[in-house]
Amino acid sequence: MEYYDVAIVGAGPAGAFLAYKLASRGHSVALIEKSRLPRNKPCGGGITPKGIQLLDFPVDDLIKETVRSVHILRGKQDVVMNTDKSPVYMVERSEFDQRLAQKAVASGAKLFQDESVTNVEMTDSKAIITTNNGKYEARTLVGADGAKGKTAQWAGIKRRNAFEHLLGIELNAPMEHYPYGDSAVVDFDVPGGYGWVFPKGRYYNVGVVTGRKDKYHNLEQLLGAFAKKRGLDIKNAGPLVGQRVPAGGSRQAVNKGNALLVGDAAWLAEPVFGEGIAFALKSAELAASVIKKYLRGEAKDLDGYTTVLNETLAREYADVRGMKFLLYNFPSLSLRVFAMSSRLRKAAEGMVDGERSLSGVWRKRYDETS
Ligand SMILES: Cc1cc2nc3c(=O)[nH]c(=O)nc-3n(C[C@H](O)[C@H](O)[C@H](O)COP(=O)(O)OP(=O)(O)OC[C@H]3O[C@@H](n4cnc5c(N)ncnc54)[C@H](O)[C@@H]3O)c2cc1C
Repeated sequence: MEYYDVAIVGAGPAGAFLAYKLASRGHSVALIEKSRLPRNKPCGGGITPKGIQLLDFPVDDLIKETVRSVHILRGKQDVVMNTDKSPVYMVERSEFDQRLAQKAVASGAKLFQDESVTNVEMTDSKAIITTNNGKYEARTLVGADGAKGKTAQWAGIKRRNAFEHLLGIELNAPMEHYPYGDSAVVDFDVPGGYGWVFPKGRYYNVGVVTGRKDKYHNLEQLLGAFAKKRGLDIKNAGPLVGQRVPAGGSRQAVNKGNALLVGDAAWLAEPVFGEGIAFALKSAELAASVIKKYLRGEAKDLDGYTTVLNETLAREYADVRGMKFLLYNFPSLSLRVFAMSSRLRKAAEGMVDGERSLSGVWRKRYDETS
């Protein structure tokens, strides 16, 4: 049986970036992905500067559009947020995730694709990973298997008491008469959530997301209503896809024994907008720093990972929960205040680029010591 320092289940941004981080420091890593890359993932593909800044390799060639302004809408209200200083980068997830996996492989990680993990047995000293194609052993196990991943269950990490779930759907549409030029749109007319339009060069990504469970069953109608109201023609759009967005962190430890969870598997999307890519990458960086210490014998367990999450990302989520309440319960009022207050708009910009952060998590690099 092949033996690795770390086995990572799932090659999304969290898993692939962690594999890259650990393999670059000489650890043996198995990155196991059930799909063949490039694979699609339901996602708007908008990445904020705080996420892009974590990458120490270029992805410029993958950027379809750099969004420098966002129309924030509610009924007839239209507030333009200038994001020139902190633009949002639009990518195709299939290409972006594949680039991360390629970087991991180039750094020495072994990628097993088209291979689904079907079970894991944990002992005190290792994990025995069974896939549809074989068995592997690893000293450390990482669940990077997204919103529906089972690694948490196999590792005995409880998946109850997550803070919140959002549900989102999206499609790509070739829109010729889009009234907002190269700006993005965020529309708060969707109950308990918002609709978005992200320009991506020759087409647009259009979607809706909500945290209201009573609206989950008619998201498609909400998307249709949003598109109609804003004059978006989605008749010739690509397939409609959707997924949950586990957001806001967990009330419980996301590590146990020699296993831990990163990205969506650890409920780490931020709770207001469901932004998850930057948070998946950041959790990978945090996990890398703890796993390296564990493998070198400088830490007796992986508890440091939950500790650092609580000190950093959990504080960021707590910070924005009040804002979420106001935004989704009093959207018109929130937008009026936002339009009037330059302080608020500056704060929003700071959240996009990571400058406004209670814990300073986006400014610090956690895995820089070798
Ligand atoms: C509709 C929608 C729109 C979104 N838009 C945005 C956006 O614009 N910007 C943003 O920042 N975030 C967005 N998000 C959130 C973002 O997509 C996620 O937070 C992000 O993908 C999390 O990355 P991850 O690596 O944790 O998980 P994922 O990207 O889900 O990757 C998990 C991987 O694990 C693999 N896997 C699962 N089970 C197994 C198994 N048993 N064996 C092997 N492999 C397995 C899967 O195939 C998958 O490749 C959106 C989400 C949705 C649903």
